Amino acid sequence: MTDACKACAFFETTEAKAADAGLCHFNPPAPTSDKESRWPAVSADDWCARFEAQAK
Ligand code: SF4
Repeated sequence: MTDACKACAFFETTEAKAADAGLCHFNPPAPTSDKESRWPAVSADDWCARFEAQAK
């Protein structure tokens, strides 16, 4: 699938914990159970209906 997170404008890999993972920056960081806020972690091959292609 080409409309995957790895090709999305909102996919961020700077703080990725694995080569096939990243963070979704579509929404602001959300509070977690440890009282910190984090961007949602996504797999490079995940996708959602908010996909937006990266600028070339
Ligand atoms: S979850 Fe949706 S908006 Fe976020 S990076 Fe993946 S396709 Fe883009």
